[in-house]
Amino acid sequence: MENIEELLQGKIRRIGIAGHVNPDGDCIGSTTALFLYLRKNHPKIKVDLYLELPKQALRTLKGFGESRQTANEDHIYDLFFTCDVSSRDRIGVAGDLFEQANRTVCIDHHVSNPGFADVNHIVPDASSCAEVLTDLMALDKIDQDIAESLYTGIIHDSGVFQYSNTSPHTMRCAANLMEKGFDHNKLIDDSFNKRTFRQNRILGYALEKAEQAFDGQVVVSSISLEEMEEYEVTQQDLDMVVSQLRLTEGAEVAVFVYEKETGQFKVSLRSNSYFDVSEAAAVFGGGGHVHAAGCSGEGSADQVIARILSEIEKRLHG
Ligand code: AMP
Ligand code: MN
Ligand code: MN
Repeated sequence: MENIEELLQGKIRRIGIAGHVNPDGDCIGSTTALFLYLRKNHPKIKVDLYLELPKQALRTLKGFGESRQTANEDHIYDLFFTCDVSSRDRIGVAGDLFEQANRTVCIDHHVSNPGFADVNHIVPDASSCAEVLTDLMALDKIDQDIAESLYTGIIHDSGVFQYSNTSPHTMRCAANLMEKGFDHNKLIDDSFNKRTFRQNRILGYALEKAEQAFDGQVVVSSISLEEMEEYEVTQQDLDMVVSQLRLTEGAEVAVFVYEKETGQFKVSLRSNSYFDVSEAAAVFGGGGHVHAAGCSGEGSADQVIARILSEIEKRLHG
């Protein structure tokens, strides 16, 4: 596929868009960008956006305010897009609307994505789904609001152009978007760098609790529901922890585990060089990218950590 317009041939009256569960900056950035782009450039088409609530800092993006947090399952869409969704079971909010649509389109960058839609445009080398979308949109049809959403997606998934998924092409896309004139400096601070006081406190606590395994090649930390309550935070306040653990000298893999419901854990994995965390996550039914992946686990935090560590140990180079 070369551009979004290819998909709009024929009678397209209604389009649905959804992101993934527990949406991050790339998910909110790419879905709102597509929503705004279709509405601006194809005003005859009715477009609905389905999103779970993200952390506060992402709710100010244009288009987010019009998103729906529940699905009316009666709707039949001519076209239904998912952005940044790595597998069918990770679509947020939309329920059966995806299956019911006449045609489905998956736009993504996860290496683990099996291609679950009718049309699959998956670019594993791209930093972000927002980068993939930038390439599918005509530059002269991107206004400042669309550019801001796309740029947000790129900076979140690339850690503001720091992670290994940042390519010269990522920078070119970002440069083209910057020329649309939004305040990039403020955007990076407000949506990516700034932490609430509580977010900083839980980050400090999780780092304090962290332990090393396998001669420091792996760094692990975890947060329980009880601890979240004590620090008055939710799971949306924990996204910095694994990124910081990864930066530990000598660590190849960072593991962060938090409790979603009693006995149900979310596992976040990051790696620095050779280790493919998406492969390790896949053993537990998860997925993601080579250097950033996730999965779920059941039992106690110690059991979940022990299982993941034994899988990691098999793959460490020593
Ligand atoms: P996270 O640790 O949640 O920030 O996720 C890191 C990357 O892995 C993101 O690109 C996620 O979309 C992906 N990911 C996280 N959890 C899963 C999962 N259970 N299944 C597939 N992909 C996942
Ligand atoms: Mn994402
Ligand atoms: Mn992404």
